Amino acid sequence: MRKLYIFDTTLRDGEQSLGITLNVKEKLAIGRQLVKLGVDIIEAGFPASSPGDFESVKTIAKELKGVTICGLTRAVQKDIDVCAEALKEAERPRIHTGIAVSPVHMAKKLNKTPQEVIETAVRAVKHAKKYVHDVEFYAEDASRSERDFLVDIITKVIDAGATVVNIPDTVGYSTPWQYGDLIAHLVNNVRNIDRAIISIHCHNDLGMATANSLAGIRAGASQLEGTINGIGERAGNTSLEEVIMAIYSQKALYGVDVNINTREIAATSRLVSRITGVAVPNHKAIVGANAFMHASGIHQDGVLKQRDTYEIIDPEVVGFPRSMIVLSARSGRHALKYRLEELGYNNIEDSLDEIYARFLNLADLKGEVFDEDLHALMGNAGKEVNGMSIKQLSVTSHGAANAAATITLEVNGELYSDAACGDGPVDALFKAVDRIVGKPVQLEDFALKSVSRGSEAMGDATVKIRYKNSLVVGRGVSTDIFEASALAYVNALSKTRYLD
Ligand SMILES: [Zn+2]
Repeated sequence: MRKLYIFDTTLRDGEQSLGITLNVKEKLAIGRQLVKLGVDIIEAGFPASSPGDFESVKTIAKELKGVTICGLTRAVQKDIDVCAEALKEAERPRIHTGIAVSPVHMAKKLNKTPQEVIETAVRAVKHAKKYVHDVEFYAEDASRSERDFLVDIITKVIDAGATVVNIPDTVGYSTPWQYGDLIAHLVNNVRNIDRAIISIHCHNDLGMATANSLAGIRAGASQLEGTINGIGERAGNTSLEEVIMAIYSQKALYGVDVNINTREIAATSRLVSRITGVAVPNHKAIVGANAFMHASGIHQDGVLKQRDTYEIIDPEVVGFPRSMIVLSARSGRHALKYRLEELGYNNIEDSLDEIYARFLNLADLKGEVFDEDLHALMGNAGKEVNGMSIKQLSVTSHGAANAAATITLEVNGELYSDAACGDGPVDALFKAVDRIVGKPVQLEDFALKSVSRGSEAMGDATVKIRYKNSLVVGRGVSTDIFEASALAYVNALSKTRYLD
């Protein structure tokens, strides 16, 4: 199997579409997470475009090791000089230079003849080669270029020293068979192609970036470019996580190996979304909130009997908690029993029919049925979660970064109280709970939304914690947002006992 190199351009192609500029700290945080994810190349920016971008690329080149750091340039000497300067401290620097190759771009944008374009490209590659060994050439708008011309320019830039040749579908115009055919054409007709890696770079204007990328890989490309969550110009870039998981799911079909730590995909997606402010749609493949959520009763039943009946990917493989099931009137007995057992209600087999009938009444009234509703349904209206209940809590806060919380928990019939300070009231609360429970967990995610049910606005908190390398999710609902948060945290903590 040949290796497929993963080239992330979230910080360059992704960022340029945002309308805001990420600062050095933000870019570095994303870069660090990309290293954890295991990408091979990080395109950190376009250094000649602004002093800020120069600084970002320079800092990333200096700080991030074990990964190739790439900077973008036009086929202009000054750009290349600036880029080389920014990459000076990189362990593995790469200059990404190039020029447009389609008739419309050459005539209308560049105002150059094809011959002049070839000369400019060769000159740029040779100039970049003076600074670094690793030079990638991009043939902008390659999917709308003339094939003979594309073969000619690619042959010449490889002769000039290009180590990677990028064949972008810049405008998202291709369909999978066209794009695969284009890559195959280069594999078969560029005489020195064995001296370079073919890279693919697709855009999603027709919703085909993932499909086109897979077609390119099957046809022989060995580098995939894209972004996390598919952010990018217009309809976006290829979503790296989609292509990676497509290959993961059917490896034999593509004949490539990918060195990605898939368990970091969810965390990377969340970080990029949080820092860029670009929300991930709930239905987004792989990383959407509903990507592993089962709502239909038949599906829930199937997944609980055998996960792969309705799941092609184990959610934990991409860093999500295992199968999330939404309890509603569409849920079957099996799903209800499963959740009740998770909440600590065992030996309910005999009364299940009767409980299920009451559950359906409740679900008809409410839509989604939460854990606290199930406690109520089971005649346990308190705030009890798996042998732990919250007896009292209070928080005080002076500004966002300075808060204190006290909490009293009843654990297996005994009362425990403790207090802690934190960055904000929720952090303080969680720390106070930690002091009582004392389990080595790591908080991975916390989300609070308001749900309106009847006349009362409720806080609905979701907490994800990591314990012994597994993700555990907890949920809490209350009219008091701090109580909802604490309930969610205690709920997650109480579930970790299944992992002990
Ligand atoms: Zn692009």
